[in-house]
This record gives sequence, C-alpha cells and structure tokens, in this order.
Amino acid sequence: MNLDLILRGADIITLEDARPRAHSIGILHGRIAGFDEELEGCAATSEINLAGAVVVPGFIDAHCHTTWWGLGLESVDLQHARGLDELYALLETEAARLDALGDTGAWLHGTGFNHEHHGGAFPDLARLDAITGDRPLYLRHVSGHQAITNTATLALAGALEPGFEDPVGGAVVRDAAGRPTGVVEEAAQGLVQSLLLPYSREAIVDALDAATARYAAEGITSFTEAGIAAGWIGHSPLEVDAYQHARRTGRLHARAQLMPTLDALHEVTGHAEDLHGATGRGLDLGLGAGFGDGWVSLGPVKVFMDGSLLGATAAVTEDFCGHPHNHGYLLDDAATYREKVAAAYRAGWPIALHAIGDAAIDLALEIVIACQDAYGPNPLPNRIEHFGIARPDQVALAARHGIAVTPQAAFIGPLGDQMAELVGPDREGWLYRGRTIVDAGGMLAGSSDLPVSDNNVRRGLQAWVDRRTESGHVLGGVHDDGTPREGLSPEEALRAYTCWAAAATGTIAEKGTLRAGKLADLVVLSGSPLEVPDIAALDVLATLAGGRFTHSTLEGIAADPATPNGAPA
Ligand SMILES: [Zn+2]
Repeated sequence: MNLDLILRGADIITLEDARPRAHSIGILHGRIAGFDEELEGCAATSEINLAGAVVVPGFIDAHCHTTWWGLGLESVDLQHARGLDELYALLETEAARLDALGDTGAWLHGTGFNHEHHGGAFPDLARLDAITGDRPLYLRHVSGHQAITNTATLALAGALEPGFEDPVGGAVVRDAAGRPTGVVEEAAQGLVQSLLLPYSREAIVDALDAATARYAAEGITSFTEAGIAAGWIGHSPLEVDAYQHARRTGRLHARAQLMPTLDALHEVTGHAEDLHGATGRGLDLGLGAGFGDGWVSLGPVKVFMDGSLLGATAAVTEDFCGHPHNHGYLLDDAATYREKVAAAYRAGWPIALHAIGDAAIDLALEIVIACQDAYGPNPLPNRIEHFGIARPDQVALAARHGIAVTPQAAFIGPLGDQMAELVGPDREGWLYRGRTIVDAGGMLAGSSDLPVSDNNVRRGLQAWVDRRTESGHVLGGVHDDGTPREGLSPEEALRAYTCWAAAATGTIAEKGTLRAGKLADLVVLSGSPLEVPDIAALDVLATLAGGRFTHSTLEGIAADPATPNGAPA
C-alpha cells in the first residue's frame, strides 16, 4: 500500500494503552494508518526520519479567544510596561504613528494592561486625553473583564449623557464625585464594543490566519473558541461564516470548535417532545453542538456568570482580601440564568458556564445538574469554564456529575501571586486546581484562555506539574516531601492538553491520542515532556493537522498553506 507520509526514527507517545510507544507512524488521507510493524511493506509519497525527536498527539486548547487575540496582534502590547510612565510613552508613540497616517478618527487600541504592573494604579483619564486628543482609545485589561477608555470614547458610548444608566452586569466606573475614571467593567465594555462591531469578515479572517499560524507554531491542532457572535466577546453575528471562509481559503491552521454566546440564541419552537414540552432557545434550522465538520464545528453555548479574579469581580462567598465588602457579583440574576440556560439545554445545547468564584460555581453546578437530571445528556459534555476558586465539595460534585472543568494552569506563572493575594491563604488551595480534580475522577481539560495568558502549551504543561508563580511560590502549597499539592505528573499534564481536552470537547473518538483511524494531528517535539526537567524548554519542531504540516522547522519541510478544502480529515 502507498501511504501519503511515514515518519520514522521517532519516539512516539501515543497515550493509548494497547500501544503506548512506537517508532514509526504512517499517514493516509489525513488519518493515522498504523505504526511500526503495521507499516511493513508500505511505501509512502514522503518519508521523513525524525532522528530521535518525540511525537505526541496534537495539543488541544479547550478554551481560548482567537479572534480577540488575532485582532489584538495589531494593537499596542502593554503587557511589558512597568509603571504608568512607560505605558503613557507606548501610547504616545502609537498616537504619533496614527497621526502620521493622517486618519484622525482611527481608534488607538491596546491590549494586555494589568494594573498590578503599575502598583495597582490605573491610567489617569486627563493624561490619556492629553495623549489622544479626540481620538477614541480602548485598552483591554489582561483579564478581558475590564477596559480603559478616554473621554472621546466615553462620549461616543453615550456614557457622558445626563441620565446615563449602567447596563445590566457592568459599570462605567466613577470616582467619588461621580466623574468617569475611564475604566469600564464587564458588560459596560459592550457599549464600546458596539461602536466597533460588527467586524468585517475580512478583518476576522485576517485575525484567524495570524492567530492560528501562531497556534500551529505552539503545537496546537485544535481549539475551542469560548464565545462567538454576540455579547462583549463576539465580533460579528456572522462569525461562523468567517471561520468557514478562513477554512475554505487555507487560512485556518488549527481545527476550531465554536461556542455561540447565549445571547446569540433566541426562542425557538418545534415539536413539544423535542423541547421537553416547553419552548427552548436555539439557533434557526435546529443547528446545534457538533454541527460542522472536522475543521469548523459548533460546541456548547457559552454563558458568562461572573467576572474575573484579577479584577476582583468574580462572585465569591467570602470577600476578596484587601477588598472589604467586595465579593464580586453575578453578571445577571440567578433566576434569569436558570431560565435561559434551561431553555438552551431543552433545545439540545450543552452548556459551558464561565464561573470563576465559588459563588458562581455553586450556581453553575446547580443549573447544570438540574438540567442533566431533568432533560438527560446533550451531545457534548457540559462544562464549567475556569472553575477558578473551587471548594472541595464543588470538585467532588463536578466529578460525580461528569461536568468538565477548565482551570487554566497557564495563569499560575504570570498571575498566580496576584490571585493568591486576592483570596488569601485559607482559600489559596482552591485556586485553579489540578491533582484534586484528577483524584476525584473529574474531567479536566487544558486551556490557555488566550489572551488572558499566552498559549505556550509547553509552559502550560510545566505549570500543571510545578505550579510555580513568577515569584517562585508553589500555588496551593506543597506536601511534606516538597511536591506540589495540586501538581500533576508530566503524563497527566500531557493528557490534560490532549486526550482529556478531547474528552471534554466531545472529540475523543477522532483525536487526543494516536491510534490507527484517528486524525493525524500530532506535534514533533525536541525532547520528551515525560522526561525533561523543564517542559517549557522544549522546542516545537513541527505540527501536523490532518496529516498536513501546519508548522515546520524540519529541514526541507515547509508548512503547507494549501487549503484543506475537500480533504476529509
Ligand atoms: Zn475566556
């Protein structure tokens, strides 16, 4: 038999019990044809000797924001600014660049702002106005749950009108005298976003192209986009079309599972039996989770229940440390969530509830369990996104009811010290857990929440293992023998970003492990993540999705930008 490709001379980690390791892997029509002795007598159009490099299943980022990040690649990057003077200088440079282009109305966009890098301070509105003049300004906080604007933007958004009222689930932050500070929180960001929306298909496709080429360079072959089409997280009501167009034109370099935002659904009617005797919330035509193909498909419905830990807006049962009388808030009434989420569930939608604080997690668990009990399973697992401050009883409950969770280990390095300070020592062990979820039999999926943290999966793998913050602290503490209480083994960490993420996204039959018949989605690494002391130091030598190189540093092998159009895998 003639195969498309054989990779030889590799240390292949399959994560399959029947054949955990192999040296050669054959690929035909985008799928894995077999290993080692199964390839005897097979020729291939292309054969590559990997000279001892390590092959693992393609990485799956179970929760990220590709369009948001991709669009932000053109913005001023504020994440490395330390002290507001540095930040102002970056903005002055960008304002001068835009002035030189002669477009006085062009927005000044920035990403990656983190007040902790400025001693907890936010930029001064008058100073921002002096830099920008009448040019609108929009700086995203690294958490995504806050942003910084100037007077020009606030005026455009209507926030300076007499009688202006904050939207449900958000606020235009004001000082003691009632004057806006320039900070907009949570749903109030939607007022600014609506000035920018909808983005054109071309802008979104450009963003997807730029972003997913970088995903491929990180070894990512699949990702779940955590919110499209509506709400402050959406970029266009036609966002699915942009993904499909990117795919058709060879500009989507990783497989996308798209979560429609709850607000994108509307009341649907059908046969009463199909909706459990009541009305439901869905998309037209009965489109639902799982619809699509191997490159672009629909996932669960994304629901935001609370804010962020960094912004101290996550809903917690006890106040944040250093923030008396602040225990965050739910973004809408509990009753509204119960009703709307159940209506989506009745129409067949699995649900992914963004819940960071333990108070939000309580409500998320209550709603998911009630829906599962009342209406039975939907096509993909239900999920709680972030599961950031999870009490022990909540870990057990999520596991018992088969609810997938996506705590981001990648946060621990850059954000862990800040998070630990906000919850204090008594609750630190509840933060972005790993070990206790696995031990409880829970469904854990690796993810970055890009751009909240970067999507360097190797760093994420190492973070699952050592849980070290930037200051060197081990988040959640250590056992007597010095091992991190919430640490995973390197193999468990690898599983979190591959087969466990595949299980959580309902795609384990097709990917997440290397087995004959599954998609040929794999990563070639410079060493074994199961053996090296620092996984973050490994190099991604190549990435294949559907048997095609989406990234390559191998000699003589170029990434193949050819359209996957028509390729079944
Ligand atoms: Zn997110």
